[in-house]
Amino acid sequence: MISIDLAGQNAVVFGVANKNSIAWSIVQKLSEAGVRLALPYLGEKLGDRVRKLAQELPQEPILVECDVTKEEQVEAVFERIAQEMGSLDMLVHSIAFANRSDLEGHFKDTSRDGYLLAMEISAFSLLRLMHYAEPLMSENGGSVIALTYMASQRTVGNYNVMGSAKAALEHAVRQLAFELGPKNIRVNAISAGPVNTLSARGIGGFKTMLEANAERACLKRNITVDEVGNAGLFLLSPMSSGITAETLYVDAGFNTVQLS
Ligand code: NAP
Repeated sequence: MISIDLAGQNAVVFGVANKNSIAWSIVQKLSEAGVRLALPYLGEKLGDRVRKLAQELPQEPILVECDVTKEEQVEAVFERIAQEMGSLDMLVHSIAFANRSDLEGHFKDTSRDGYLLAMEISAFSLLRLMHYAEPLMSENGGSVIALTYMASQRTVGNYNVMGSAKAALEHAVRQLAFELGPKNIRVNAISAGPVNTLSARGIGGFKTMLEANAERACLKRNITVDEVGNAGLFLLSPMSSGITAETLYVDAGFNTVQLS
């Protein structure tokens, strides 16, 4: 267990769907470090699941419904945070969505609605979250992370519109880092290797992707969700105070290997 004391700090983590979620791994690490948490969840069905998970945490988190496509819900999350926490030190963006039909078949056949939906939920949402989060980040600044995937830079079969969304997300991370740097707000991305989660299972051929990654990666294995959680804790904590506008690969070295 990696131990770091972040007691007295507040974080909001978007994207907990269940115990396998990357966001949940980050929540556990932050919680062990003493961070107070707000956990927005998508819809009441997920709410029950997140409420149950939240019982495992030592401090009761703020639980609030939030679909990032609904401006009034996004605004309400940050109003609750302002009322109950007063200020915010960390934000985690661990959400993505595309219609299943757009994650298989031909990229050229992506519908206008499907394209815009994927971009809105998976990339544009970071801007809306930061619009409301920035005023809550005090003179001490803050740290923000977004979860991305290598298909932003390389062509990955079936990833289609999500590759476009991740490229936009990574650009947003750099642009926000530049804009918010003078306020000491750091913005970074974690590019995770494949992890077996609800979202990942929606990508056509995901199992094959897992096998290929394990075979070709430098470490000759897939990463664990716990390893992404550790990287999240590092980037969110002052341990990484000199790092911003960066995309940190947590993929067992896969992205560096030339396929032959
Ligand atoms: P996950 O557990 O399914 O998390 C994705 C989250 O996004 C879910 O909580 C999902 O809620 C939420 N979401 C979808 N639409 C939303 C909306 N309109 N408003 C608010 N939340 C919404 O899967 P995950 O793998 O941990 O994904 C987290 C992040 O890691 C994503 O950005 C993903 O692209 C990235 N990532 C994953 C992998 C991987 O292999 N798993 C690799 C690299 C990067 P619902 O479940 O209700 O849709």
